[in-house]
Amino acid sequence: MTPEARHRGRLFILSAPSGTGKTTLRRALLERLPDLAYSVSYTTRPPRPGEVEGRDYRFLSRPEFEEGIRRGRWAEWACVHGHYYGTSAEDLTRALAAGKDVLLDIDVQGAASLRRRFPDSVTVFIAPPSLEELERRLRSRGTDPPEAIALRLRNAVREMAAREGYQHVIVNDRLADALEELVRIFAARRT
Ligand code: ADP
Ligand code: 5GP
Repeated sequence: MTPEARHRGRLFILSAPSGTGKTTLRRALLERLPDLAYSVSYTTRPPRPGEVEGRDYRFLSRPEFEEGIRRGRWAEWACVHGHYYGTSAEDLTRALAAGKDVLLDIDVQGAASLRRRFPDSVTVFIAPPSLEELERRLRSRGTDPPEAIALRLRNAVREMAAREGYQHVIVNDRLADALEELVRIFAARRT
């Protein structure tokens, strides 16, 4: 039996240009919906100050990640802003088979690939109010060097173009409003 045929839970995919506020919204959402399983991604990006191994990401080396690609360890993976990011196929299959709804915070490439594999996924794109505000948030977060911020802003333009492929689009202008909108979508789509 394929993992797809076996699953009972549903995927909820969140994507957004870096700096939009996706991590902030995701954490607030998980507090509101504690029975939702969060898929902790694997990445070769170095940890930011305050990030915790196993909670925010599982950090690994490039050779380890590439070995995972060769062995088919990733349900999806992508190279984003110069680093590898991936979702463990084993973790995902296990959570879905246990009937859990799973929240994924992944980029637009990963979202496109999982949507093909799990057509009943719920997809939400979170957009910044403007590129100027996105830049302000990236700078105010204070976790990325200037070159990383510039790269993330360049990539944001391409990522914004992918919003058309998502079922729901939320503009994260006022945080509390965006969270309520997200909670409403989850309430409507968790059956
Ligand atoms: P992402 O995970 O999308 O890269 P973060 O959640 O780290 O983004 O948010 C980037 C920065 O913007 C953080 O400093 C966060 O506190 C701030 N932020 C998030 N949402 C809002 C909002 N609605 N208004 C103003 N600042 C926000
Ligand atoms: P950040 O470095 O800001 O945490 O994340 C950068 C980008 O990588 C974000 O768009 C985030 O959603 C994406 N990302 C995080 N984990 C994964 C993953 O497992 N797969 C894919 N495809 N993208 C991911």
